[in-house]
Amino acid sequence: MKERILVTKSILPELDEYMDEIREIWDSHWLTNMGEKHKKLQSELRKFLDAENIELLTNGHMALELSMQALGLKGEVITSPFTFASTTHAIVRNHLTPVFCDINKDDFTIDADKIENLITDKTSAIIPIHVYGNICEVHKIQKIADKYGLKVIYDAAHAFGENYRGENISHFGDVSCFSFHATKVFHTIEGGAVCYDDLDFGKRLARLKNFGIKTEEVVESVGANAKMNEFCAAMGLCNLRHFKDEIAKRKRVVDFYRKYLENIEGIQLNIIQAETVSNYAYFPIVLHEKEFGSSRNEVVARLEEHNIFPRKYFYPLTNTFGCYHDKYNAENTPVALHISKRILTLPLYPDLPLDVVERICEIILDCKK
Ligand SMILES: *Cc1c(COP(=O)(O)O)cnc(C)c1O
Repeated sequence: MKERILVTKSILPELDEYMDEIREIWDSHWLTNMGEKHKKLQSELRKFLDAENIELLTNGHMALELSMQALGLKGEVITSPFTFASTTHAIVRNHLTPVFCDINKDDFTIDADKIENLITDKTSAIIPIHVYGNICEVHKIQKIADKYGLKVIYDAAHAFGENYRGENISHFGDVSCFSFHATKVFHTIEGGAVCYDDLDFGKRLARLKNFGIKTEEVVESVGANAKMNEFCAAMGLCNLRHFKDEIAKRKRVVDFYRKYLENIEGIQLNIIQAETVSNYAYFPIVLHEKEFGSSRNEVVARLEEHNIFPRKYFYPLTNTFGCYHDKYNAENTPVALHISKRILTLPLYPDLPLDVVERICEIILDCKK
């Protein structure tokens, strides 16, 4: 490839469409602090996600971090290490102890059958991740949470716009946190949102994103600054108009990949969840070296020689990060450890040309021994 092919490429609306959207900001001189664009995007997303309530934030990480704070979590939370740094960092930055649960080997989400064993009298919440848009075992997880009186916060950063058994996924758990980062299927350049039911939680969250300020003279909590600005909200308004088209284009790429790579010994494709309406956010494959003949790292090296740059999402596991100084033992999450050493996320974005996809598949298949 002459051009570098990266794992993703941020979508953009037509420049004119964005210019039209931001023109009013010049008239109002209102750049941030819950202005008109913020309000409009909030209301449109609420409809789009069929959410009871939604709060917009500056990014997906602060959505997680402030949700945990607004819920007043204490002690231990059960989560999985097969995720982006953000999930585990948000837990630790809230002075909570992450207790790592293993994952399912076919959909990479938390193994709900292993949660109950990890519950202690210090456990206050379960924080599962809809990894690659694969929906967690939401009903099993809710049953456990109800039995032990635990909160459930979904890291739904990968799952924007998805439905599971006819319901928008923003309905599951106490809270669902979305990321609208530039690399995600729907973005606001940087941004995030929290969907929730409980109005008191919503009030606390809204204050926490604005320094904990209740009224001009009353500061109620030790908040942060996590407000989505008007330019980001305007980008969201544009991108939301094209979301369905972009997803259809992604599906085309994914279908093409699947056709090429299915039924190859040693290549495990991401599961197709029967009852999930997918957003086609990622195309991960697991390369089983014994059967495939080449290792994940060998395949990466070969692709890079051709100017193609997939990513090893999610390797390393968060419970092995140097910043946690060996506090956690990845041997306790053997499936996650096994998968993370073999996972590879291939380039995927709406305008990725199919002949490039074909080339990527050929290079991978060329590594088969
Ligand atoms: C992107 C991402 C986040 C963080 O979102 P930002 O908007 O980048 O802060 C959290 N969790 C997961 C799984 C993500 O992929």
